[in-house]
Amino acid sequence: MPNLLLDPDEHRAAAQRLGEILAGYETSVSQRPVFPELDHEALARILGEQLPEEGRPLDALFDELRDVIIPNSTQIAHPRFLAYVLASPTGIGPFAEAAAAALNQNCNLWTLAPAATAIELKVVAWFLELFGIEDGGGIVTSGGSMANLCALTVARDTHHPGNPRLDGLQGISQPLVVYTSEETHNSLDKAISMIGIGLRNLRRIPTDDRFRIRLDLLGEQVERDRREGKTPFCVVANAGTVATGAIDPIEELAEFCAREDLWLHVDGAYGALAVLSKRHRNTFVGMSRVDSLAVDPHKLLFLPLEAGCVLFRDTAGWRNVFSFVPSYFDMPDEPSLVHFTEYGPQLSRSFKALKIWWGLRAFGRRAYEEAIDGVLDLASYMGERVEADAAFELMAPVDLTAVCFRLSDCDDARNEAVLSTLVESGAAFLGPARLKGRFALRACFTNLRTSRRDVDFILEELLRIARTLP
Ligand SMILES: *Cc1c(COP(=O)(O)O)cnc(C)c1O
Repeated sequence: MPNLLLDPDEHRAAAQRLGEILAGYETSVSQRPVFPELDHEALARILGEQLPEEGRPLDALFDELRDVIIPNSTQIAHPRFLAYVLASPTGIGPFAEAAAAALNQNCNLWTLAPAATAIELKVVAWFLELFGIEDGGGIVTSGGSMANLCALTVARDTHHPGNPRLDGLQGISQPLVVYTSEETHNSLDKAISMIGIGLRNLRRIPTDDRFRIRLDLLGEQVERDRREGKTPFCVVANAGTVATGAIDPIEELAEFCAREDLWLHVDGAYGALAVLSKRHRNTFVGMSRVDSLAVDPHKLLFLPLEAGCVLFRDTAGWRNVFSFVPSYFDMPDEPSLVHFTEYGPQLSRSFKALKIWWGLRAFGRRAYEEAIDGVLDLASYMGERVEADAAFELMAPVDLTAVCFRLSDCDDARNEAVLSTLVESGAAFLGPARLKGRFALRACFTNLRTSRRDVDFILEELLRIARTLP
C-alpha cells in the first residue's frame, strides 16, 4: 500500500490533536488581534520552502497550524470582525467539512453520491419552502457569485430568440439588456461580462433615498431601450444590497417583470436568508414569484466557506442550459434523485450540502432565527447609537445587519485614515463602502460572538483614533 494513508491509531491521534486545537481556538479567538501581527519570517519560510522529498510527522503539521497558520490568519470569528459579509462559522461546520472530505462523494451523478444527492435535494427543498417557491429546483454552489452567474446564464438562454446552445450570442442582432440598481454587487458585472452580454448593456438604475431601485426610472429605461430596438430581458433585484442591506421592492418588480415579459433574478446572497427571522417574513413574500434567486448559506447561515445556492422557479428551462450528457456516462434514472451535473456548470462537485444540512439539523430552525435576530438587533443598536451621537453620521437606514456611517467632523480622507488605523491596530475590522459618492465605514454583523460591548468599544475606539490622528 502506498504510504499516503493513516492507520486507525493515527486517525484517532490526528482527530484528537485537531479537536484540541479547535477547542483552544474557541477560547483564544476573542483575545487575538483581529488582523494579525504578521510574522514576516514565518511567511518567508513558507514562500521559500523546497518541495519536501520526505514527509514529516503529523504532529509537526498540527504544531504549525497552532503556531504559524492561526497566528498569521485574519480572525474572521473574532467578535469584532465586522467587515464585508463574512460569517463566523457554526461549531459543526469543521466536522461536516472533514466528513465530506473523507467520503469524497462526487455530487455530479447520483450513482456516485446517493445520500449526498438526497441531502442536497432536501436542503434545496427547504430553501424553496422558506420562500414559498412551489415546484422549483436549485443547486448548491460555491457562493453567491456562482449562483448569480448560473441564474443569469439561464435567463439569457431563456430569452435568446434562436438556439443559444448552437449560436451563442453570435446569432443575435439586437443586444440583450439587463437592468439593476446602482447598488448591485459587482459579481453581476462579472457575470454579465462572462456570459457575453457586455457591460454596455447593463443599465444601472438610480436608487431612492433608501438605496432601493427606482421603479419609475426602471420603467422609463426599459421603454426607451425597446424604442431603440434593443431587447430588454432581465431585471436583477437585491434582497440586501451589499453595502447597506437595502431590499428592492420584490413584489412590485415581480408585477413589472410579468407585465414586461422580463426574467426577474434576485441577488439574495447577503440578505435573503433573513427570511428565517419572523421579522422578515413579510419582506420576502414576493419571492415566490421570482424566476431565480441566489442565496448564500455561508453568510446568514453562519457556515464555513464555501456554500451558496441558486433556486429556480421553472426547472425545465434551467436543465436545458446545463444538461450535456456524454456517451461515456452511465446515468441510470432513480426517480427520487437527480444527476446534479445536468443542473450546473461543474462536473466534479464536492459534498457542500452536508454542512448546510448538519447545521440546520444540529441546531434547528429556532436557533438560526435567534442568531439572525441577534445580529439584526446588534445592527439596530449600533445604528441607534450612531444616530444619537453628533460625532457620527448614519449614512443609510439599517435594513438588515449592515451599518454605514462616518465621523461627521472628518472628510473622506480622514475617515479612511481612521478606518485603516483601526484595522491595523488589530482591535477591530470594519470595511469601507462608498454611498452616493461619499466614503463610509461599514460594520456588518454576521458574527455569532459579537455583543453590544463590542459595538460600544468600536465606537469609542473610532473617536479616540480620530482625536489622536495627526
Ligand atoms: C457576498 C455577495 C455576493 C457574492 O457572493 P460570494 O459568495 O462571495 O460569491 C453577491 N451579492 C451580494 C449582495 C453579496 O453580499
